[in-house]
Amino acid sequence: MMKIPVAKPFLGKEEAQLAYDTILTNWVTQGPRVAEFEEKFASYVGSKYAVAVSNCTTALHLAMIVAGVGEGDEVICPSMSYIATANCIKYVNAKPVFAEVNPVTYNIDAADVVKKITSKTKAILIVHQIGMPADIDAFRAICDEHNLILIEDAACAAGSSYKGKKIGSHSDLVCFSFHPRKVITTGDGGMVTTSNEAYYNRIKLLRQHGMSVNDRVRHLSDKVIIEDHLEVGFNYRMTDIQAAVGIKQLERLDGLIEERRKIAHRYQKELADLSMIRLPEEPEGFFTSYQSFSIYLKPECSLGRNDVMQKMLDAGISTRRGVMTSHRESAYAEECKGLSLPMSEDASDRSIVLPLYVPMSDEEVTYVIKHLRRILEA
Ligand SMILES: *Cc1c(COP(=O)(O)O)cnc(C)c1O
Repeated sequence: MMKIPVAKPFLGKEEAQLAYDTILTNWVTQGPRVAEFEEKFASYVGSKYAVAVSNCTTALHLAMIVAGVGEGDEVICPSMSYIATANCIKYVNAKPVFAEVNPVTYNIDAADVVKKITSKTKAILIVHQIGMPADIDAFRAICDEHNLILIEDAACAAGSSYKGKKIGSHSDLVCFSFHPRKVITTGDGGMVTTSNEAYYNRIKLLRQHGMSVNDRVRHLSDKVIIEDHLEVGFNYRMTDIQAAVGIKQLERLDGLIEERRKIAHRYQKELADLSMIRLPEEPEGFFTSYQSFSIYLKPECSLGRNDVMQKMLDAGISTRRGVMTSHRESAYAEECKGLSLPMSEDASDRSIVLPLYVPMSDEEVTYVIKHLRRILEA
């Protein structure tokens, strides 16, 4: 029997060597590697600036702050997302207002967002669901019309693109994750991209305790500099050891996505005739990283989601449930009592994430397809 994990990061000797070299320079945080990773990431996505932070959740927190979201404000976001999407709104004492997702890409639904705008709405936080871009132009138009700020949770979307441009270049607050479950990783890590200089400067400040001079500037100066702390900030730094790994991972990103898409296309082709499942679709102009490959079990399927997952595991194949909904988690159950999001709930309850990682051999992909077919056709 084969043993197939649902995901694994692609990390090579080069990453280990770069981390090793960085350690031996003795400059292990807020140094040249972080600066280099930021420059390369900004250039890769096509934004003016990028700021490296400790993870995507802290990236989102800083995005909320610089967007001016605070007490009494509402931010519209999908419930169907990892819970960090909603939590970052709570961190600034604002209220997440959960909108539905659309049935094709499971991305936040523009028509439902419009219905949920009130006089308290300050921003819309869209999520590029498991790498599939949300329809950014539609949300841009809504934000322009209602004078709202657009923020992108692009945790899974490094390397994805929308209408020919990489995610990270379309709006001024785009937040990425480098957790090992994403396409590229720095262990933990995150990035905010922006082309807005004021946002850029404030995010840099807030990431490091609100300190007026960063370590690099002070270190390189031949004059004594006494720093001030301009506002209450945070320690949301990425280390240089992580950034060194990130630089190599970024070089690999397009190649990794190409490999992921080959595997996804085999799933698409070789599972297409199974009438009891629905496969992901990539609309024209949308390009997904396939951070995950999620299938939907139609209601006519006689097996439940957990049964399918268990039978796959019995064959040595790990799967995961699809994307969660935040409004049904204990942390939100009280404030969301009575809230019904049937589309999101159904999509979440009936989805299964199949194994997808690089390198995944042809035999492994064949094995997953064979067993899924056997289980569903029984
Ligand atoms: C992974 C993920 C996050 C959290 O990223 P971290 O780097 O672990 O903080 C936030 N939002 C979405 C949609 C995610 O998938």
